[in-house]
Amino acid sequence: MAGGFILTLAGSPTSWMVAGAAIILALSVVALPAAVRTIRRRLSRQPIPVSVNYFFSRKCNKECGFCFHTAKTSYVLSQADAHRGLRLLREAGMKKLNIAGGEPFLYPKFLGAMVRFCKEALHLESVSIVTNGSKVTEAWLAEYGRYVDVLAVSCDSFNEQTNIAIGRGDGNNVQQLFRIRDWCRTHNIKFKLNTVVCRLNFEEDMFDMVSKLAPFRWKVFQVLMVRGENDSEETLRDVRKWEISDEEFGVFCDRHKAIPAFIPESNRVMASSYLLVDEYMRFMDKGSGKMRESESILDVGVEKALSQVRWDHDAFLERGGVYDWSKEMAVPEKASVGDMAANGSLDW
Ligand code: SF4
Repeated sequence: MAGGFILTLAGSPTSWMVAGAAIILALSVVALPAAVRTIRRRLSRQPIPVSVNYFFSRKCNKECGFCFHTAKTSYVLSQADAHRGLRLLREAGMKKLNIAGGEPFLYPKFLGAMVRFCKEALHLESVSIVTNGSKVTEAWLAEYGRYVDVLAVSCDSFNEQTNIAIGRGDGNNVQQLFRIRDWCRTHNIKFKLNTVVCRLNFEEDMFDMVSKLAPFRWKVFQVLMVRGENDSEETLRDVRKWEISDEEFGVFCDRHKAIPAFIPESNRVMASSYLLVDEYMRFMDKGSGKMRESESILDVGVEKALSQVRWDHDAFLERGGVYDWSKEMAVPEKASVGDMAANGSLDW
């Protein structure tokens, strides 16, 4: 049937015009309302959630002592609700989604359906995933890699004993890292490296290994204490013994700053720079030291939920530009953290 329809069209210029008009109309129906909503939000100076970090699950197969999004619940939304929330964010202006956890690859089918939905239905400019790498497979990347722009893999040490002390070691962390880097190259995904610097690794020299891995970005975070997550003996993790001073973080940064992909991020920069959404589709505010959550986007909508947390969105309003969100965009010269905040590319 469909083939016959296409053949009929092929023979008539008028039919081609009708088909063209139908396609334009269909695109308008999908794209226009979202564009109008975005323009209206800009004009009214309402914050636009351009870049969102979605922590859809807290469950993880590792036990890092500094984790600040711990497995306090095992809740995961249904796929339908997760997609509904993402659509609401898209309609509010989201262009980039970063998926984090917990460990996202503990839910390979859910994750695959989500990245596909983000690209095929929502047409997001960029979809990225943050993972500890242990559950990433080439088969998954072969099936869903086309919907993923950036894969960020955590690596806090190239010394397995340090990884074990941190709570992440299993004997083949480094091997797996190189494997994933190669798979990313095969499947046209940008490979990114994330490192948390704490008392156990701030003296390590990672220069040679990171240079060999050659990530397109190397995000280096100063370990962060978040009240209610990792700040006492009552919380699932207690990071107090592993905190480092700004000076110690600076020492680590000085050792590695010559690496072109190097991007440091101190606690000062992290606080409130990110737009975080949790497993219930609530915005989280971790920047004030004490974590607070909004009501769920699914219940009250994006605008009201966003108004309930503190988020430094001025930079997003001033500049809507992006620079390396998608796999199609070339890797630029290194940008400063300020630049990244300004153009909304901050993510995990
Ligand atoms: S891998 Fe990430 S989510 Fe899992 S325990 Fe470590 S820091 Fe937390």
